Amino acid sequence: MTSDGLRPVDEHLAEVLSRVAPLAPLELGLADAHGSYLAEDVTTSIPLPPFDNSSMDGYAVRLEDVRDASPGQPVALPVVADIAAGSTAAIRLQPGLSARIMTGAPIPPGTQAVVPLEWTDGGVTQVVITRAPDPGAYIRRAGEDLAKGAPVLSAGTVLGAAQIGLLAAAGRSRVMVHPRPRVIVLSTGSELVELGEPLGQAQIYDANSYALATACREAGAQAYRVGVVPDDPARLTEVLDDHLIQADAIVTSGGVSVGAYDVVKQVLRQVGSVRFHRVAMQPGMPQGFGVMGDDHIPVFALPGNPVSSLVSFEAFVRPALLRMAGAQQLHRALVPVVLAEAGRSPAGKRQYVRVRLASDPQRGVVATRIGGPGSHLMAAMAAANGLLIVPEDVTELAAGATGVAMVLDGPGQ
Ligand code: AMP
Ligand code: MG
Repeated sequence: MTSDGLRPVDEHLAEVLSRVAPLAPLELGLADAHGSYLAEDVTTSIPLPPFDNSSMDGYAVRLEDVRDASPGQPVALPVVADIAAGSTAAIRLQPGLSARIMTGAPIPPGTQAVVPLEWTDGGVTQVVITRAPDPGAYIRRAGEDLAKGAPVLSAGTVLGAAQIGLLAAAGRSRVMVHPRPRVIVLSTGSELVELGEPLGQAQIYDANSYALATACREAGAQAYRVGVVPDDPARLTEVLDDHLIQADAIVTSGGVSVGAYDVVKQVLRQVGSVRFHRVAMQPGMPQGFGVMGDDHIPVFALPGNPVSSLVSFEAFVRPALLRMAGAQQLHRALVPVVLAEAGRSPAGKRQYVRVRLASDPQRGVVATRIGGPGSHLMAAMAAANGLLIVPEDVTELAAGATGVAMVLDGPGQ
């Protein structure tokens, strides 16, 4: 706690991370495992490739038969077989002969190289070869990608297209992964209106449940948007009770400041062990965090201003969801940047400034501030692709000074 009663960002994050753990592993079919983090070290029970095969359409030859082949002195060889991909014919290549072979087809024993089709006349019963291949040319050796028994992917690897493809190539149809956290996202506020409804007087559309559910998905979680809950303690209690059972985490927005109708604070203080803090950051100062229910489901009560809720998500919820998902790297990439212009930052608070990051061949990555510090300025957030992180003790920023920015990558950035 600082002298002004604010809780340091790192202390809040440390508490959050100490209360969440990777979700218990389960076995999933490969297609369903997309986006999950592996919970096992996978080895391969087959070599990759499984057998020697051709990397080109061409002709299997022995080196001594084609050693002198050149455009001026072509070599003609009888073609004694046609080997397609998938062929199981038992063929042995004898001296003085060749076999037509396709990409991926098994290399017949006795072969020392494959001559690509382009170096030949493409003959079917006899082939004329105009160039000598190097020993072993265009032969993909069994196990050259991975030997039998070799490690394929280690626990903690996230499964994207290439990783799923590799597991499939190794014949693994099911893998142990950490499930993707199921997150219930709800917005509180009696001024909020669901999309599709007309806007009445003093009403605004609910932006946060959409933004936060999307942020959860971008962090690899499964998000269920409950939508709008009015500032009514009984209704909020009911909604939380209804959804707790299906959740690995709950994210709420709004109702955590010191206003008269800050019902989230009121309700969550009573159930579970949710506590509320003034965290030394800007935006995003009011934060609630704790656990609820028998399963100790983590609950993040974020402030209602749309920019504050998204910045709070970046600072606390995203790392927690990644830990629950089984990731080892919990944090966004931080890059050194040069500031395009001068600015000020509040003393004693870590400021997250919406910036546009652009690389400049001379200066490196340049960060240009977008919009003002107002936490309602969503257009500026939507135009930003980074957050400049101004340390607590820095109050003045000079143009051309260096700093550190969090890179927000993902669709829309
Ligand atoms: P609160 O944290 O409930 O005091 O809300 C702070 C500000 O954020 C108020 O101006 C609210 O109207 C606004 N706000 C709260 N929730 C949302 C939401 N889901 N979408 C857009 N704005 C919101
Ligand atoms: Mg409110």
